[in-house]
Amino acid sequence: MALTHPAGMSEPEPPQGDDNGRVTPAMAQYVEIKAANPDCLLFYRMGDFYEMFFEDAEVASRALGIVLTKRGKYLGRDVPLCGVPVVRADEYLHKLIALGHRVAVCEQLEDPAEAKKRGAKSVVRRDVVRLVTPGTLTEDTLLDSRRNNYLLAVARARLSSVGEEAHFALAWIDISTGEFRITECDRPSLSAEIARLEPSEIIVSDALYADAELAPYWRELTAVTPLTRDVFDFATAERRLTSFFAVATSEAFGSLTRLELTAAAACVTYVERTQLGQRPPLSPPLRETASATVAIDQATRGNLELMRTLSGERRGSLLDAIDRTVTSAGSRLLAQRLSAPLTDPNAINRRLDAVASFVDDVTARADTRSRLQAAPDLARALARLAVGRGGPRDLAAIRDGILAAADLARALGSLKETPEDIAAALRSCQRPDGMLAAELAAALAAELPAYKRDGGFVREGYDAALDETRALRDESRRVVAALQARYAEETGVRALKIRHNNVLGYFVEVTAQHGDRLMAAPLNATFIHRQTLAGQVRFTTTELGELEAKIASSADRALGLELDIFERLAASVIAQGEEIKECAGALASLDVSSALAHLAAERGYARPQVDDSHDFVIEGGRHPVVEQALARDGTPFVANDCDLSPPRDGEAGRIWLITGPNMAGKSTFLRQNALIAILAQMGTFVPAKSAQIGVVDRLFSRVGAADDLARGRSTFMVEMVETAAILNQAGASSLVILDEIGRGTATFDGLSIAWATVEHLHDVNKCRALFATHFHELTALAARLDRLHNATVKVKEWKGDVVFLHEVIAGSADHSYGIQVAKLAGLPASVIERARLVLAKLEQEDRAKPKGFEDLPLFATPYKAPQEMPDNALELVIAAVAALNPDEMSPREAMEALYALKQKLATAAKK
Ligand code: ADP
Ligand code: MG
Repeated sequence: MALTHPAGMSEPEPPQGDDNGRVTPAMAQYVEIKAANPDCLLFYRMGDFYEMFFEDAEVASRALGIVLTKRGKYLGRDVPLCGVPVVRADEYLHKLIALGHRVAVCEQLEDPAEAKKRGAKSVVRRDVVRLVTPGTLTEDTLLDSRRNNYLLAVARARLSSVGEEAHFALAWIDISTGEFRITECDRPSLSAEIARLEPSEIIVSDALYADAELAPYWRELTAVTPLTRDVFDFATAERRLTSFFAVATSEAFGSLTRLELTAAAACVTYVERTQLGQRPPLSPPLRETASATVAIDQATRGNLELMRTLSGERRGSLLDAIDRTVTSAGSRLLAQRLSAPLTDPNAINRRLDAVASFVDDVTARADTRSRLQAAPDLARALARLAVGRGGPRDLAAIRDGILAAADLARALGSLKETPEDIAAALRSCQRPDGMLAAELAAALAAELPAYKRDGGFVREGYDAALDETRALRDESRRVVAALQARYAEETGVRALKIRHNNVLGYFVEVTAQHGDRLMAAPLNATFIHRQTLAGQVRFTTTELGELEAKIASSADRALGLELDIFERLAASVIAQGEEIKECAGALASLDVSSALAHLAAERGYARPQVDDSHDFVIEGGRHPVVEQALARDGTPFVANDCDLSPPRDGEAGRIWLITGPNMAGKSTFLRQNALIAILAQMGTFVPAKSAQIGVVDRLFSRVGAADDLARGRSTFMVEMVETAAILNQAGASSLVILDEIGRGTATFDGLSIAWATVEHLHDVNKCRALFATHFHELTALAARLDRLHNATVKVKEWKGDVVFLHEVIAGSADHSYGIQVAKLAGLPASVIERARLVLAKLEQEDRAKPKGFEDLPLFATPYKAPQEMPDNALELVIAAVAALNPDEMSPREAMEALYALKQKLATAAKK
């Protein structure tokens, strides 16, 4: 796409040097501004365009797919240039930010005419007014309305002794909503916290960025910005933070540690630097205690597909499956709650009470949801107004939000029962001053332009001075029309028109054939030639010039008055910032509660019982995402029970070991139980007939042999690293989901690791756990581990095929049905037949050293597998089993006994 400048644009002068290599003042200005912002692409305002020069132009033209041109020379070389029109700047900014660039926006700070007054050669004053970075956006066009956009600062404590554990403080803000939080964590939790917050941008000190241990991790993340040491300076942190909030001491925020102060101060300093003086309406920093929310590490989040699927999409995630909110702010709050389920049963039950009251009261729910639909995104509109990037529609959003909130509070005031959370929300809905909404309603016109500079947003009759100026402007426009008629008459050119463009202003236009007449006496005394085009000739007249000046000045004056009104209204909005933010939060929470109630009613979810025991009893549980996916095809989901509660009087929970063929539904069962725990603890109803859950403090979920090629680690290594994390961290309140651990290595290795892992979970971690495995050998462990329960997924064999019933029952799978599954998958019949043959043969052999395969004829008449074992083989095996005493065996002995049994079977069969 070629971007060219409109012809005749007088300003701006390109910042070029001349051919002698001398640097013009314009060039000097550009170079100076660029030097101050070396790590940003510089959007350099020139008239209606933002131009980029030199390397910036090369980078941007490639990134945006726009044409790279040249203009002038600098130090003897061509200057590469590209530009984007100001009116479409957001679109291009969006692309650049998404690609990880940072952009410095440099504006003209005066009218070019002003500069000219200082001398013909003088340069228009310009400076950077804002740095656009991924973590500091406010525009709707640049943001996803349903997601928070966090900037995260990470500060690390200086280690005082060798071997001391690293300790971090995290501070994060969303300048588009004003949220500001702080927490502390250790190294293992650092990546879990970052995975939870999914910040758009992370700031760290240069030193932390270069840290040998962390550097590879930073590089994996998107948009980590290293900053100079002063931003993370301990000594000045408190002063910077208190001065941002204009408070006397940081005690106003509760007692923050020095490290927390450092991270929080880094955030506000970065905001000040990027916003250059504009103040987003940040709330004072609020501390989050790590133990208040369930610890869920990055692998588990990915694995359970909480916020997005493994392939990175929202569709198919748990969030997508449960999101019935009707506002963007509600959607953001829902995502926050889902990513940080609570651990305090009281807090959980307060949320559940709110959901329950909307489940019970169908009318209140429907009413609330329809009223909320009319509630705009108050928080983001407020943030834009506060940083000076708001428009008339943001004022309207504030007006409509405040009115909707007040209406809602009135409507819900008549609820039979009002749970604590809803009562608090209703109070907050009434906080903003009703006069503000009334004032906005009186001031704003019915149709609003996107930008305040477009004018026309103030309602007629609101401001007398404005009405008068507008009348003058409109009157002058009528005079122009009259003038056109008079000129047509006087010249006899009926097609004479008075037109307007940005270059010439108002002008008289006639077709080429009439041009000569106007240029000859006597008409040339009135009509002054301006321009000859291919088909038209253009003129001006003294009268038209005067009229134009009058129109322009009254239009300017009208716009000026409107902008004054805008600023006054914006200021009264900002003065109510705290109340508006609180109201926005209340609307979001009402949206979330009613939406979750809607979901519960729609899908038949039940209220979970949450307490601080170690219980875990799910009756008729379903997988919330799979269930909805199957429902779309009309397939029912088979509900299943699960009970991981400690045996009577015990503290340690049970482990369920689930065997069964591929495709039986093992993974689905595992995940649905983890998801039910998450939903219960985020404070919502769950897809089950009933659920009783003792709060989970940490949740782990792992799948064997997960692919992690991007990080260049062997899949097995990843599996083991992740398993190690669980065995080292899980405690009695944790819930562990292990799916096919040990799959990534040779059978015996894998089996042994799985074996030892189950034992460790049982004896050391003592946590509640679900373990799906294809190692049938593990089921023998149940004889020795008293809290281990064998479960399997029922299948039916039918005419050589396998039918999956998806029903989880006690017991263990008899065999793995791999070949039947392969048949279902459509492997060629010859391959299936061949596989049956090999299997039959293998089952007779010692698996470790298969032999006799040289004799297995390829594509010969199928080998008939013996239908039955020789009688004496079975007897031998039965006798051997009877002789075993599993309670006294070590795992190793048990394994050896197993192999011996197989050996016996094999040798017996050969006889
Ligand atoms: P496994 O882990 O045993 O190989 P999965 O859990 O991946 O099996 O399930 C395979 C497929 O079976 C799923 O994609 C789903 O469509 C279906 N399925 C699983 N569990 C159920 C269930 N309880 N009810 C209905 N369909 C199910
Ligand atoms: Mg599976």
